[in-house]
Amino acid sequence: QTTLKSTGKDPYPDWKAGDPVPYAALCTTFSKIEMTTKRLEILAHCAAFLRQVVRLTPDDLLPTVHLMVGKLAADYAGIELGIGESLIMKAIGETTGRSLKIIKEDQQKIGDLGLVAAKSRSNQPTMFKPKPLTVRAVHEGLMKIATVEGSGSQQRKVDGIKKLLSSADVNLAKGQTVDINKDKGGPSESKFIIRALEGKMRLGLADKNLQVAIAHAMTAHAVAQDGKKIPSEDELKKGEEIFKAVYNELPAYEVIVPALLEHGIWNLRKSLKLRPGVPLKPMLAKPTKSIGEVLDRFEGKDFTCEYKYDGERAQIHFVAHDADLDFATTVAPEAGKSDRGISNIFSRNSEDLSKKYPDILQKLPTWVKKGTKSFVLDCETVAWDTEKKHVLPFQQLMTRKKKDVKAEDIKVKVCVFAFDILYLNGEALVNKPFRERRDAMYSAFDEVEGEFAFAQYGNTREIEEIQTLLDESIKASCEGLMVKMLDGVESHYEPSRRSQNWLKVKKDYLAGAGDSLDLVVLGAYYGKGKRTNWYGAFHLACYNTSSEQYETVCNIGTGFSEALLAELYDTLSPLAIDRAKPFYDHSSGKNDQPDVWFEPKYVWEVKTADLTLSPRYRAAASEFGSDGTHKGVSLRFPRFIRVRDDKKPEEATSSRQVAEMYRKQESVGKDKKPAVDDDF
Ligand code: ATP
Repeated sequence: QTTLKSTGKDPYPDWKAGDPVPYAALCTTFSKIEMTTKRLEILAHCAAFLRQVVRLTPDDLLPTVHLMVGKLAADYAGIELGIGESLIMKAIGETTGRSLKIIKEDQQKIGDLGLVAAKSRSNQPTMFKPKPLTVRAVHEGLMKIATVEGSGSQQRKVDGIKKLLSSADVNLAKGQTVDINKDKGGPSESKFIIRALEGKMRLGLADKNLQVAIAHAMTAHAVAQDGKKIPSEDELKKGEEIFKAVYNELPAYEVIVPALLEHGIWNLRKSLKLRPGVPLKPMLAKPTKSIGEVLDRFEGKDFTCEYKYDGERAQIHFVAHDADLDFATTVAPEAGKSDRGISNIFSRNSEDLSKKYPDILQKLPTWVKKGTKSFVLDCETVAWDTEKKHVLPFQQLMTRKKKDVKAEDIKVKVCVFAFDILYLNGEALVNKPFRERRDAMYSAFDEVEGEFAFAQYGNTREIEEIQTLLDESIKASCEGLMVKMLDGVESHYEPSRRSQNWLKVKKDYLAGAGDSLDLVVLGAYYGKGKRTNWYGAFHLACYNTSSEQYETVCNIGTGFSEALLAELYDTLSPLAIDRAKPFYDHSSGKNDQPDVWFEPKYVWEVKTADLTLSPRYRAAASEFGSDGTHKGVSLRFPRFIRVRDDKKPEEATSSRQVAEMYRKQESVGKDKKPAVDDDF
């Protein structure tokens, strides 16, 4: 019963059934979570709190879960926090009557705006006691701040922040204090409001843990209704499995939480399954170094080699007007509507791309067969040369506008290459073998030249034939091959997993150049010589998904044209901040500091010659430890490839992937060479 052990005295005995969930109670839980690194303890605090919400105020479970995950809605709703430092500082100053100068000085000293806010609030005499904050009010307040648009929106955001802050920290439980030098600032509401605004809760509460905690809370609730005090380990495990299976297919708390409350955990799987309108996190592939490695992995199994198209991942959802579905269709905000039905296109990270690709939505009825009434299709959109009738490089696709595109203005045409189908005519297909899914896909659509096609493939186990397919894919402007299992459980679609059952073979790996990494730009150095007006080199990091920190991995100054440097200066300089964020894990060495630090926003794809242990960079440090000579892993001779607009900073290459790449390289016997930073 490790996970549901009592967490001590209930800090909020006054919280009665039907009362709105006090925000202070949530912050107390946040503080407990923040104070431990032990996964089971985190889980216990989280589950116990959720259990209390379910028992006393179930109507508030959804906003509670959203605040815990640090997001106001599912990704496809397109509601983003991540408010800039300057607005937040202005709001703190105006709420607490302290000058901006002092707030900035505090920020210089403390380096954490949440704590700056907590300190500012705790020094402020309160004339009258405002009403304590509730979870629902905070969620609504944040939602307003995130969604205001139009003229005066900046000031209205500041006003929204002020409103929240002025009610914060008035209801600390007896004996609780906010001491910014102790317990990371304790349960301060101001601190957690600011962190939510920054879009980073930094609790060490990974989304996966939260899912387990919800499952445990709901399992405890279910057994309590049967008169049992606590659930058994088996029951907890069963609850977890049910929740995870549903969440994998329907990653939207908006849909799951109401169903959980209505049907209970044991009936969740029966009442909910994958559905068009809610994007799944896509399945991803593992890199391989050689065709031999593919053959080793898939020995004795049937597999297929598909072209790996170099464009943008697109998950296309469609429901015909006359589809006979047993649920109300959830429609993402930017849905395309036609005589046939409603459709959406979602990106790799579940953003709604429908406004970027009105041309695809317009033509969709021409390639969807008449009997096809609903589907979720996994595809790649690729720039297409209509005259020469072939695929164009990725760079062409990137020149397309991202929003409010008018179909008639489009210059770069795209062709959709479909490679998998996850749902068809009311039935989820993710748990069917790929061979069956592929047949279903071929039966549901018609190819239209230059507009819609199925991914090219060959089913072979012969090394020469695979090599030929690889060469042909490259000639056809593709990146290489995707090799996939065809039969059995191993060929099922695994949402959100980088799976061993999908292998990518890129020509670059074969040439020994290694895979590319997607890294976050954390800082920059002013240029010298010809580059004086811009930044000449940049400080990059990978993302540690467990500690939720960005870990520095290299400096880079190669691969940029002058025009690009000028452009990057314009996009990056507004993100400059006074000092590194508290969640940047970087070397404190005097010579290792970039001239400017940035808010984490941009992800760049970078190639490297190889990886090495470094005395200076922090990537994957927790895996390799610090033995005095090195701190983490870094890249040798990194080279810029492109900006990855389709990835958020949290989706950058993870520290674990960096560690995996390093180990893989070591295991094939590369020398350890000293880190070589890029020249600048
Ligand atoms: P990369 O930079 O290699 O695209 P990634 O992290 O975005 O890396 P991977 O899992 O490594 O994703 O590679 C799979 C990507 O390749 C998919 O996300 C998809 O966009 C693209 N792709 C192109 N053709 C195919 C195909 N036939 N099957 C699956 N994915 C394909």
